[in-house]
Amino acid sequence: MSKKKLLVASREQKCIGCKLCMLAASRYEYRKLGVKDSPIRIKGRPGGYKIQIDYGKKLKNIDKIIAICPQDCFDVINET
Ligand code: SF4
Repeated sequence: MSKKKLLVASREQKCIGCKLCMLAASRYEYRKLGVKDSPIRIKGRPGGYKIQIDYGKKLKNIDKIIAICPQDCFDVINET
């Protein structure tokens, strides 16, 4: 059985709240513009952003989401 890949926010403390990851996740996963239905949510304020990832939704474009983050906040891990 193949292992499931997971997007993880390993460096959440570096987040600047630009929301590019939210937009990219909506676009690549659901072909939608905007952040309303994004599987990623950015909460908080400058100096203390929280990155929430909905693990109930399988992401197929993890590499593209990782690549778009200007702060390199994300990694991919293999679920054990
Ligand atoms: S793309 Fe990176 S820096 Fe921008 S909101 Fe997402 S995690 Fe934060």
